[in-house]
Amino acid sequence: MSQHINVLDMAREQLAVAANFLDLDKGLHSVLSQPIRQLIVHFPVVLDNGEVQVFEGYRVQHNASRGPTKGGIRYHPEVDLDETSALAMWMTWKCAVANIPYGGAKGSVKVDTKKLSKRELEKLTRRYVTEISSMIGERSDIPAPDIGTNAQVMAWVMDTVSMQKGYTVPGCVTGKPIELGGSEGRTEATGRGVVVTMEEAAKVRNLDLSKSKVIVQGFGNVGSTAAKLVEESGATVVGISDAIGGIYNENGLPVHDLFNRYSGRDGGIREYKDAQPVSNAEILEMPCDILIPAAVATQITVDNADKIKAKLIVEGANGPTTPEADHILSDKGVFVVPDILANAGGVVVSYFEWVQDLQNFFWEENEVNAKLTRIMRASFSEVERGMRAHKTDMRTAALIIGVKRVAEATIRRGIFP
Ligand code: NAD
Repeated sequence: MSQHINVLDMAREQLAVAANFLDLDKGLHSVLSQPIRQLIVHFPVVLDNGEVQVFEGYRVQHNASRGPTKGGIRYHPEVDLDETSALAMWMTWKCAVANIPYGGAKGSVKVDTKKLSKRELEKLTRRYVTEISSMIGERSDIPAPDIGTNAQVMAWVMDTVSMQKGYTVPGCVTGKPIELGGSEGRTEATGRGVVVTMEEAAKVRNLDLSKSKVIVQGFGNVGSTAAKLVEESGATVVGISDAIGGIYNENGLPVHDLFNRYSGRDGGIREYKDAQPVSNAEILEMPCDILIPAAVATQITVDNADKIKAKLIVEGANGPTTPEADHILSDKGVFVVPDILANAGGVVVSYFEWVQDLQNFFWEENEVNAKLTRIMRASFSEVERGMRAHKTDMRTAALIIGVKRVAEATIRRGIFP
């Protein structure tokens, strides 16, 4: 049932709630409901066996009122134009909530990267970047990693744009390897931001982290970093899952060890035997105090929201909770730190990376982490104040701040011509 949920409808429903709170002008509301640009590309790649395969990809820019657009590139077999557009819209609100000078964008290619060799992945990336090159650039639209892409893919993006320009353009993409103008702390930034907001939310909810049990769904970039930092925060990680399935042990899981030994293996973390194997659906409903969904969208729906035991949900993933599930969780008194706040750490450090690239002046990791923590705490506290002022939940409060900032920028700039 959950796979039929249209995430663009979900994003628009969330926007409508904020627009209603803000008494937003109807014309402005329709401007913000639509992406400013959508590009669909079909491009061929010659596979290692000599066959030609045609791939479908997208790049969507949602809003550029506050600055160049920014958003990750996702490689996944189930991406489509609507999902990419929803993710671009969420990026717009996220950048505005963190108050960084960007609009939102997203890109994706319908592909199962597990079926490609490294050489095929490189060719696919270079051709996709060439096809969307009319949209991306260091002053216009700056990609970053997302599901299925990583620092190596970003290096190929940077090299492809640079080859076309005839000179090196490090600021055209973020999440690059350090030696190519990447930022210290970028790989861990999203997971680190998730854990900073988890700590802030625990204070609000009077949760003692040293006695708290945490489940993390997803063990990729965001999930594995969050799980490691949760362990360092003094809480106990009792459940973890990846695309293959989950594991649960009420006495705790050795996160660092699991990461070093099992992530990236064919059987995933399920190969670890000192824990109860559970399905991807079951892991969300297992006993815990804090749940961190850090995998894909629409995981907490009308079908399972009622069965969730966590008192606090911190959204590492984009769009893991549907609006119907939000109502159920709110009625149960579950505190949800929404994606556009909780996972903003990635784009915040991407912003730092871009600033460093434009200035050719690089910062130390502790400086990056300190600045990130400061922005995450300030954003959390602003949203929490908004939540109390408007007597609403954290998601609506965050959307009100984000949408208001974008609406104000749009009004100030005026509608061209
Ligand atoms: P990733 O590709 O590194 O990892 C994704 C993980 O999710 C993998 O461990 C995969 O096995 C797992 N997974 C997939 N389907 C699953 C399922 N049904 N149940 C459990 N696990 C499943 O991707 P990532 O960069 O870690 O992104 C994860 C989420 O965080 C996405 O929603 C992404 O949009 C969001 N996000 C990422 C960043 C970033 O900087 N990478 C920033 C903000 C938000």
